[in-house]
Amino acid sequence: MADNCIFCKIAHKEIPANLVYEDDQVVAFKDLEPQAPVHVLVIPKKHVESLLALQPEDKELTAHILCEVVPQLARELGVAADGFRGVANTGEAGGQSVKHLHFHILGGRSMQWPPG
Ligand code: 5GP
Ligand code: ZN
Repeated sequence: MADNCIFCKIAHKEIPANLVYEDDQVVAFKDLEPQAPVHVLVIPKKHVESLLALQPEDKELTAHILCEVVPQLARELGVAADGFRGVANTGEAGGQSVKHLHFHILGGRSMQWPPG
């Protein structure tokens, strides 16, 4: 757990969040400022700063998130059939504001491309 990391605090239940999924490695919760009718963040409980900080030993965790949790949640949240956007903003130019790896699931409306 990293000091002063808001997502570590959510993962360890030190601050509240609207959880939609939890297992031993991952939590998912509703974004505080939703940008779409469905806007959920999927995070590892372990503190990893961003995609760039992932290490070979994180392969199983990353595969669990991308191969199991994200598609399962997309189905449960009702956005799988119409489609959704999965995003991991990375670094300053990538628009990452919280330095704990998170995957946005955005759906329930049509998405524009390219993003702003
Ligand atoms: P980023 O900009 O880093 O890709 O995404 C961070 C996201 O975290 C933003 O969409 C923001 O609304 C959300 N967020 C920031 N702080 C909190 C919080 O305390 N609780 C929840 N549920 N979401 C948060
Ligand atoms: Zn953290």
